[in-house]
Formats: sequence, structure tokens, C-alpha cells
Amino acid sequence: GKPIPSNPLKSVLKDLTPEEEAALPRGWQLIGEVLLVHIPEVLRPRRAELGEALLSLYPRCKTVVETKRIAGEYREPIIDIIAGNGTETIHKENYVLFKLDVARIMYSQGNFYERRRMSTVGKDEYVVDMFAGIGYFTLPMAVHSRPKRIDAIEINPVSFGYLSENVRLNKVDGIVHPVHGDCREKTPEGVADRVLMGYVGTTHEYLPWGIKALKPGGIIHYHETVPEKIMYERPGQYITAAAAAQGRRAEVLQTIKIKKYSPGVWHVVVDAKIL
Ligand code: SAM
Repeated sequence: GKPIPSNPLKSVLKDLTPEEEAALPRGWQLIGEVLLVHIPEVLRPRRAELGEALLSLYPRCKTVVETKRIAGEYREPIIDIIAGNGTETIHKENYVLFKLDVARIMYSQGNFYERRRMSTVGKDEYVVDMFAGIGYFTLPMAVHSRPKRIDAIEINPVSFGYLSENVRLNKVDGIVHPVHGDCREKTPEGVADRVLMGYVGTTHEYLPWGIKALKPGGIIHYHETVPEKIMYERPGQYITAAAAAQGRRAEVLQTIKIKKYSPGVWHVVVDAKIL
């Protein structure tokens, strides 16, 4: 077979101990001009060197940041700059521009296929994106499908700022209406052909507003993190129960696995028709 390519970091970093060499990161994420990398414990004392090594491998990169974790209701990243400077950048994906500050906002590579899937909707649709973030789903949808209208609701002021800016950057101001606030107060009623609920944690608590927004026959895309064993049951049960509470019926169309969230837990999206 083909030889396995050796880690490019190995030739840039000198005098690695066998432990350090074994722990070298094999992957990283490029968001615009910022490179995000996770650094294992054994390499922490040498992280500045590692950062410079990565910068030298990616001449178009301006900053290398170490990612630690995602925290809180707003899902803010905890990071450290280890080389270069500046964390605001414009990331391009599928002809869509996403301006963001990687120090304050997360961008999940794992949601790539879902962003692409959400880029195809009907021209006549009225869409409500209840957890819009910086426009993760709203922007690809607006750019590629140009539906009649998308109400993009976002509670975090920093994300909302980038959402508004990204709407202008992508020239979809005629389509996307950014709304700052809590979707439990801002979601319109009885107007939507499609509702996006791209938030994970306690998404089911927001279902009453998602369902109320939909016209009869409208579609909901409901995200949830769920243990593998009940992955194909629980989300649908939540949707059915929330619909029934409003005297409506839900038809679950499909469940799609987006990514592994934690051991034994999947991030899934369920498409359902609300009658
Ligand atoms: N789909 C995203 C991706 O591709 O990386 C991840 C989910 S997105 C970050 C979820 C967004 O919902 C966050 O920006 C968060 O601030 C927002 N949010 C949380 N609670 C909210 C609420 N009650 N109303 C409106 N937005 C909310």
C-alpha cells in the first residue's frame, strides 16, 4: 500500500521526546485565517513552539489558537492564542461568507452537511430560524435558495452583531430579517412554512413556540442531543407531545445523525410535518 505520510509538525519541531512525538496533534480546524488546534497535556509546555510551527505550515493563517471547551447557554468557546494575533476573521464555505470572532463564537465543522442540506428550500417559503447564531443555516439558505423571507432570531448580542453584518456581507438583506431577542418572545405565530430549531441542550422546551409558528403542513427541523439507544424515539415523542398539546398532529419524516456529541450521545436532527 501507500506509505503513511508523516506528521508535518515532526519536521518543524526539533528534539521531540517519544512521548511528545506520539502526542502531536494530527488534525486542526481552519476558520478563515485562524487555525484552531487541541493541544494534549504533554505538549502544553511547548505550545508556543507548536503554534509557531503551525503558522509556518500555513502562510495564509494569521493566528493559531488552542481550543479548550465550549461553555454556557450561549455556547461560547474558551480559547488561548498561542501564536500570531487577531481572532476575527471571515470564513468561506459553499460560497457563503461567515464573519466571526473565534474567541467568542463557535463554528462547528461537524455541522457541515446540515448547513449544506439547509441550503435547499422552496422559493415561496417563509422560514423562521429560532436559534440563528451568526447565520449558520440562515445564510446558506438565503444565498442558495432565496426564499421569500427568513426571520433569524438570536439572543446573544455578539452573535446577533455578526448575524446582522453577515446578512449585509452576503447581500441577502432583502430576504433575511435578523431579530434580537429570546425566541420564546420573538417567534411569529401561524406564518411559517418551515422552522429551524438548531440549538442543542434543552431544545424540547422551545417546541411550543416552534409548533405555534407553523402553518398547517409546515416542516420543523428539530435538533437534539440524545443517547444512542433512544435516538430514533425520544425526539419524535417530544415533537408529537408538543403538537398534541396544541391540538395538532405531527408526522415524523426522518431522523438524521449530525455528529457524535459525547460518548454514547448523538446530535440528531428530526424533520417532522406539523398538521
Ligand atoms: N448550528 C450551530 C453551528 O453550526 O455551529 C450551533 C448552534 S447555535 C450556536 C445556537 C444559538 O442559539 C446560539 O447562538 C445561542 O446564542 C442561541 N440561543 C440560545 N438560546 C436562545 C433563545 N432562547 N432565543 C434565541 N436564541 C437563542
